[in-house]
Amino acid sequence: MYGVRSAFLDFIDDPFVVSPTESYRYLEDGLLIVEDGKIKAFGSYDHIRTDYPEIEIIDYSQRLIIPGFVDTHVHYPQTEIIASYGEQLLQWLEKYAFPGEERFKDPLHAREVAGFFFDELARNGTTTAVVMTTVFPESTRVFFEEAQSRNIRAIAGQVMMDRNAPESLLDNPETAYHNNKDLIKEWHNRGRLCYTITPRFAITSTPEQLEVAGQLKREFPDVYVHTHLSENQEELVTVSQLFPECKDYLEVYEKAGLVGDRSIFAHGIYLSNSEFKRLSEAGSAIAFCPTSNMFIGSGLFNLKEAKSPAHPIAVGLASDVGAGTSFSMLKTMSAAYKVTQLQKQTLSPLPAFYLATLGGAKAIHLDSYIGNFQIGKESDFIVLNWQATPLMAFRHPQHSIESVEKLNEILFSLMILGDDRSIDATYIGGNLAYRNPDYMTW
Ligand SMILES: [Zn+2]
Repeated sequence: MYGVRSAFLDFIDDPFVVSPTESYRYLEDGLLIVEDGKIKAFGSYDHIRTDYPEIEIIDYSQRLIIPGFVDTHVHYPQTEIIASYGEQLLQWLEKYAFPGEERFKDPLHAREVAGFFFDELARNGTTTAVVMTTVFPESTRVFFEEAQSRNIRAIAGQVMMDRNAPESLLDNPETAYHNNKDLIKEWHNRGRLCYTITPRFAITSTPEQLEVAGQLKREFPDVYVHTHLSENQEELVTVSQLFPECKDYLEVYEKAGLVGDRSIFAHGIYLSNSEFKRLSEAGSAIAFCPTSNMFIGSGLFNLKEAKSPAHPIAVGLASDVGAGTSFSMLKTMSAAYKVTQLQKQTLSPLPAFYLATLGGAKAIHLDSYIGNFQIGKESDFIVLNWQATPLMAFRHPQHSIESVEKLNEILFSLMILGDDRSIDATYIGGNLAYRNPDYMTW
C-alpha cells in the first residue's frame, strides 16, 4: 500500500450533459491511496492522511494527476508506418497499411512492434487502448501476451478481411470463425484483457464474413465489436456499390447483427441523422480520431451533433495511429479542438479531458473499472507537468493551480501545447510503468 500526494482532477459526470462545473472534482492538495492495484481511498491530503499515518507517500507536488488516458481506436501494426505521405484512405491502405501488415505474419516481428507500441502508450500516458491487430492470429496472440505482461487494459481482436486486400492478408469466413473463437476463449476477460470481433470495414469483408462476425457476437454476447464506419467519401461510394441492398453504411453492420452497446465505430464523419439516431438507440460508441481525419484528409467529425440531446452517443477520443499522427492524447485533444473550431463549435478543456478519460471508459463500458478515482477502481493514473517545455513554463509560470479559472487555463495549455514531454509518470494497475527521464530536473 502507498499514497500519492499531488493536485488531482477527475470526472464524475458527463460535461456534455450536466454543466462542466458539475462534472469534475479538483483537489489542490489531494491524497490517493493505492492497494493491490486498486484505489483504496481518495480525498484531501489532510483528511485522508489521518487514516493512513504510517504509509509511504510519493510526493508529486507542483504536478497534476489525472486518470490514465483511454485511446478508443488504434492499430498496433501501423506503428512503423506512421507519417506515410500523400494519400487518402483507400490509397493509403493499399500503399502503406497493407504492405506493413504483411510483415506481421512473422510473430517475432509482431512481438517486437507490440513491445514498442506498449512502451509508446505508457510514455504518452495511455493506460487503456482499443486495438486492431492484423489478419494473422499469431499477431493477436503475441499482442495479448505483451499486454498481459504489462498488466495494461487492452481490448483487441484479430482483423477479418476476405476481399479487396492483398491475397496474403485475406482469410475466409470459415477460418475467421475458428481463429476468432479460439482467441476469444484464450483471451476474453483474462485479467485486464477483452476481445473484440474486428471486421476491418465493410469494403474488406464479404456479406458472408460479416455474417460470421455476427454469429460470433451471438455466441459470445459480451465480447466487443470494433470496426470503421463512414470515414471517407470514396469509401462511402464503394460501400453503396458493394451493398446496394443497404440504405446506408450503418445498415451493413446492422444486417450482420454487429450494432449494439459494445460496438465501437471509428470515425463516423459522414453519418446521416438516421444513423446517429440508430447508433444512439443501440448504445454504440464512436471513436473520434481527429489527427487521422485531418492527416489523410477524411473530413471533420461533427462532435456537437454526436452529443446532441436528440440522439446522444458515447464518444471517445482516439489516436488511430498510423493514419493518426501521434500517440499523445494531449495532441489528439489539440486536433479535436481544431476540428470543432473549423465547424464553429468549441471544445473547452474540461469536456476534452473528459473524453480522454471517463468519457472513453464509458464509451467502451469499462467505467465501472477505470476512468476516475472512485474507491475500488483500478489505479491507472498519470502525472502531468504543465511546465514541460520552456514555452509552457513561460505561459504558466506558477507552480500551483489555485482557482477554477487557472485550472481551465492550464488544462487548455496542456491540450494545445502538451505532448509526451508533459507526462512525468504513468502508473498502470498501481505500478509505475513509465517515468520521464527529465522528471525532477527543473
Ligand atoms: Zn483505424
